[in-house]
Amino acid sequence: MTDLAQRLADVDSRIGEAARAVGRDVGELTRIVVTKFHPASLVRELHDLGVRELGENRQQELSSKAAETADLTDLTWHFIGQAQTNKARQIRRAAHVVHSVDRERLVDALDAAAEPTDPVLDVLMQINLTADPARGGVDPAGVEALAERIATASTLRLRGVMAVAPLDEEPAAAFERLAGCAARVRSVVPEADWISAGMTADFAEAIAHGATHLRIGSAITGPRPPRA
Ligand SMILES: *Cc1c(COP(=O)(O)O)cnc(C)c1O
Repeated sequence: MTDLAQRLADVDSRIGEAARAVGRDVGELTRIVVTKFHPASLVRELHDLGVRELGENRQQELSSKAAETADLTDLTWHFIGQAQTNKARQIRRAAHVVHSVDRERLVDALDAAAEPTDPVLDVLMQINLTADPARGGVDPAGVEALAERIATASTLRLRGVMAVAPLDEEPAAAFERLAGCAARVRSVVPEADWISAGMTADFAEAIAHGATHLRIGSAITGPRPPRA
């Protein structure tokens, strides 16, 4: 077994344990492998190991990696980074799911960037769980208003919420607040039941607090090489 296969198997068994510990079915969980900073060749190795859900946090890197692996037609690319409105067209072209919708201008830009033949784009509302407005994500107070705005965008489908746990807080407490925001989003769009939460350091806590989509990088890929 390669080191990559071993790390993937280890993470999957830890995901299974964390789910069992709280009585959840592992079949409810989608494990996204975050390949940022790693070359497209890693995407191919992961694909050989059965990985189909991949995440990137920079638009340019996503676009080039998705293009380099375009022959792998069964991949689902998740865009998990801060999105600039002037890159909306490129993001739509490369990503199947955008996790980082956090403001009305971005909703409008993604919606306006749709070509007539584009499929509806799945999006998640990113919630800022920190007190720092400079971090990505909508302030929790604005969750219902942004959900309503997304619901009116005919080329977008709101699937749920996403967040990164703050560094200065127990992840469990942060994920509990996220679950509260998720419920408020569902009061506007009942079928928006995805919760994207949990990274290498905190995916077990995220699973305990209802995460449906885990974004795991270094535990699977190994340490990230310096950006080229
Ligand atoms: C890099 C990244 C991850 C994965 O981080 P790891 O700690 O390597 O698992 C998850 N989510 C976002 C938004 C990221 O940028």
